Formats: sequence, structure tokens, C-alpha cells
Amino acid sequence: MQSISQRSGVGRHRKVNIAQTAKGRIALVTVAAGAVSTAGVGGAAAAQVQNTPVDSVKTQTTDFKQVSKTSPLDQVSGDIQSQIDGAVATTPQILTVAETKPVQNLSEQLNTAIQASQARAAADEAARAPSVVRPAEGTFTSGFEPRWGSFHKGIDIANANGTPILAAMDGIVIDSGPASGFGNWIRIKHEDGTITVYGHMETLDVSVGETVHAGQKIAGMGNLGFSTGSHLHFEVYPDGNTAVDPVPWLEERGVSVS
Ligand SMILES: [Zn+2]
Repeated sequence: MQSISQRSGVGRHRKVNIAQTAKGRIALVTVAAGAVSTAGVGGAAAAQVQNTPVDSVKTQTTDFKQVSKTSPLDQVSGDIQSQIDGAVATTPQILTVAETKPVQNLSEQLNTAIQASQARAAADEAARAPSVVRPAEGTFTSGFEPRWGSFHKGIDIANANGTPILAAMDGIVIDSGPASGFGNWIRIKHEDGTITVYGHMETLDVSVGETVHAGQKIAGMGNLGFSTGSHLHFEVYPDGNTAVDPVPWLEERGVSVS
């Protein structure tokens, strides 16, 4: 009990100190307006309350009552006495808080909170992971522009025959096979309605209806169809019908190809 009392003495002292600091000021102001001779007593009493543990304060309360009998500080003294009584009355609550078991539990709660925070950070990291990838490594050889009397509706990335062709985003394969001009093509429909098109591949690794993920190898680069060398022809249809320039579309998604 003695040790608990001493541990909690810090908390009690702080509590009394806060409560009495304001009271101390009031007492001094009142004294300044009244009898100067009692200022020393009031100030000293307030200082004593501020700096003395509760057990000692209780001992000092007798002095307050004596002062109040001979000075105009009856009400102030009474207020101080109420504060002291209040401080003493709240002491058992402070003792309960000082138990060590809740502190251990708090430590567990902090660990749990830290783990939850780390899990959230990992989830955020995953959410920021690239959801769009460059569909093939190689040299950018043609852009989204008029070419050969028509309009080239995609970009060309040239590389060796068999170079992996990757799904640009998660999606579902809606075409995989021969197509006029493309030799072979793969079309993937993505969750947001975008369709990406891949052409001229030598080999095909996915079938219609298959779910693919961004970065997954779907084919091997080739020179089939209307093509003058091994390359990937890549198109993007954000609304499923109208081709847009894949270069800015990719750049907006953190992928540089040109
Ligand atoms: Zn092309």
C-alpha cells in the first residue's frame, strides 16, 4: 500500500497543482484588493497547496481555517478547502488508473494498432502497384498516326521474334486467333470497358474466355499479317469502340513506351 501510495503521489500532486494554480491566482487577486498584510499568508498557503502532496495538504488545512477566522478571505479559503476536499475525493480513481494490468493491456492494444496500421500500409502499397504495364519490351517504331494512306490506329514496338507480349491490364480474353491484317490477334476486355488489342504474334498463350492479369504473358511476338518485321501492334479502345493514341493513355497510367 505504501508503494502504491507513493507511485500515485505523482498523479495526485499534479492534480492538486493544476486545480490550485487558478485558485492561487484568485486568492492573490482578492488579497491585493483587500488586506495587504494577509497577502503573504494567502500566497504562502497557495504555494504550499501547489507544491505539497495531498497528505500534507490535509495537515495544512487547519492553517487555512485559522487564517479565515482572522482575515477577509473566508470565501477564498472555503473555495480552497473545497478544492482540497475535491482533490482528496478523486484520489481513489487515480489509484485505479495506476494499476499495472491496464498498462500491459494498453501495450497489447498499441501492438494491435501498429499491426493494423502496417496492414493498411501494405494494402495501400498494393493499391498503388502498377495496374497497367508496358505490353512488350522493344523499340518504339510507329505511332498513332496516318500511315501508308490510312490511319495507324495503334503503336508498334519491335523486338525479336518470340519476345513476351504481356496483358496491359487485368481482363478477359475476348479474341485469340487469326485476324485479317493482324496475322494473329488477341483482344482483352478490361473491367472498366476498355479493350486492348495485340497483333502479329507468332504464338498465342491464352484462349477466349480466359482471365488474365496485368503483366501476364499472353503471346510471343511475331511478324504475321500485314507486317514488315517482328513487332507488336498495340491498340487501345477506352470505350470499347474508338481507338485512342496508346502513348498518352499509357503515360497517364505511369507507363512510358516512346
Ligand atoms: Zn502497327
